[in-house]
Amino acid sequence: MTEVKEKKTADIKKEAEEIKCPVQRALYYVEEFLAGPMCGKCFPCEMGTFEAVVRLRKVTEGTGTVDDVAAIKRIADEMLESSRCKKGKDTAEFILEWMGSGSYDAHIAGKCPENECKAFIEYRVIPEKCTMCGLCKDVCKDNAVLGEKALPYMSGYLPFEIRQKRCTKCGECIKVCPVDAIEIIEIKTAEEVKA
Ligand code: SF4
Ligand code: SF4
Ligand code: SF4
Repeated sequence: MTEVKEKKTADIKKEAEEIKCPVQRALYYVEEFLAGPMCGKCFPCEMGTFEAVVRLRKVTEGTGTVDDVAAIKRIADEMLESSRCKKGKDTAEFILEWMGSGSYDAHIAGKCPENECKAFIEYRVIPEKCTMCGLCKDVCKDNAVLGEKALPYMSGYLPFEIRQKRCTKCGECIKVCPVDAIEIIEIKTAEEVKA
């Protein structure tokens, strides 16, 4: 039987640091900690990480509030104070390290400054740039791209479009577009984000 090696907090930290958005970064760290090294021997760490995941997720999903941010800070402070081992304290420090960046407040106001949280962004085709090559449509597993591939020497084709209701914001289309005709745009208001 193959042994599943438990991730160390140092490994989780390294992985988390590859995520640009500070809120998503903290969420990733705490989720991985909860699923792995967290042993459940002391209350502030066990309950705190569980509650932190719920609240961090709300912030990344555009439904977070000022109270959620305050609660995340309180949880991290308590964990730092009362965790019995270094793993719990490291987790608290990691959360606190990114809380002063302004990113949490931006999320509450309806914006992910790194354009990473799906709730705050949309993928759009820039019509003037689109050459109707069809690569984005081919790669989209969610059938969210509308358009007809242009044939040589024929005219009358319209630029491709992304159907927002179907788009899961996976980002695959943007990777394959050869002319950078797909952009990520912010959804403008907190009301639109929460709609
Ligand atoms: S602080 Fe350490 S001992 Fe306490 S629950 Fe967390 S991982 Fe376990
Ligand atoms: S982001 Fe993903 S789901 Fe949306 S259009 Fe592009 S490939 Fe399709
Ligand atoms: S990959 Fe780019 S250029 Fe090609 S159809 Fe899609 S948006 Fe247009």
